[in-house]
Amino acid sequence: MADIQDHYRVVIIGSGPAGLTAALYAARANFAPLVIEGVQPGGQLTITTDVENYPGFPEGIMGPDMMDKFREQAERFGTSYITDEVSSVDLNERPFTIKVGKRSIKADALIIATGATAKLLGLESEKLLMGHGVSACATCDGWFFRGKEIAVMGGGDSACEEANYLTKFATKVTLIHRRGELRASKIMQHRVESNPKVEFLWHHTIEDFVGAPETGLEAVRVKNVQTGEVYDLKVAGVFMAIGHKPNTELFMGVLDTDETGYLITEPGSTRTKIPGVFACGDVQDHIYRQAVTAAGSGCMAAIDVERFLGEAE
Ligand code: NAP
Repeated sequence: MADIQDHYRVVIIGSGPAGLTAALYAARANFAPLVIEGVQPGGQLTITTDVENYPGFPEGIMGPDMMDKFREQAERFGTSYITDEVSSVDLNERPFTIKVGKRSIKADALIIATGATAKLLGLESEKLLMGHGVSACATCDGWFFRGKEIAVMGGGDSACEEANYLTKFATKVTLIHRRGELRASKIMQHRVESNPKVEFLWHHTIEDFVGAPETGLEAVRVKNVQTGEVYDLKVAGVFMAIGHKPNTELFMGVLDTDETGYLITEPGSTRTKIPGVFACGDVQDHIYRQAVTAAGSGCMAAIDVERFLGEAE
């Protein structure tokens, strides 16, 4: 691996499909970019198992394996990597300054691809069974639960959307919500309430996930928050839909975000309000949130950077 320098033409923060596709394109445009990949490289795909909806892999591919390939491909054309977290960024003047550990790195252009993180309950058993019955992505993993009974946790638009979507595969979807009414928009509520395959478990939370990685999830231990009763609900899968959090802490007060915290980019481009700073992938997309759309916007960011640096010189 190349030695890390003090100054790069292009620095990319984040190493999911968006960041690594941006790196691939920036590398092939001869910018020898630096990717600061965080301490858990690869992004959200590393918490899923088989990826069957990324074009070009007819047999499917494991999420972590796919991200290794993305990384290798970007490296082949001259991308360097730092496996560490960015502690702060100074976007007041160009070149921008990025602090990573003890290093201070300058960048003529910055691509933000820090992604979003699915909110989870934080239980040990949840971590253990992630990818083995516990999932945070219905479009990624719904297919594995064909003909099975599953549950969705949450009461917002995501939970309703996922519950509806999952009825394409599952025989029954139990929507577990901690209150007695949904937070979701009326139209989503109506859709899910009129779906005969969806049942509601109101006023319940999940206390534990029962199963083992080798055999998969067997049940969720639920608690009725009104009566205190705890019991096991037998399901083969559970989808956590208690919200996503865009990873924008580094840019708070510096870049504009929408009311849910996602970075705002100019429509049809990856430009943020600061010239030379671009954003791609889930950190600026709360609608599609797919590996392939993230990769597409990573490509856009690298092309936007190339144009910007061409014009700035
Ligand atoms: P959200 O609206 O924040 O809903 C999160 C849900 O999870 C809430 O019902 C909340 O319960 C529950 N929850 C949160 N923390 C929990 C915990 N620790 N334990 C148990 N339950 C918990 O998140 P979202 O559904 O992902 O939506 C995010 C944004 O994207 C929203 O603005 C939404 O409108 C938008 N979105 C839109 C669409 C669409 O229009 N098609 C689809 C998806 C998302 P409480 O209700 O009790 O707080």
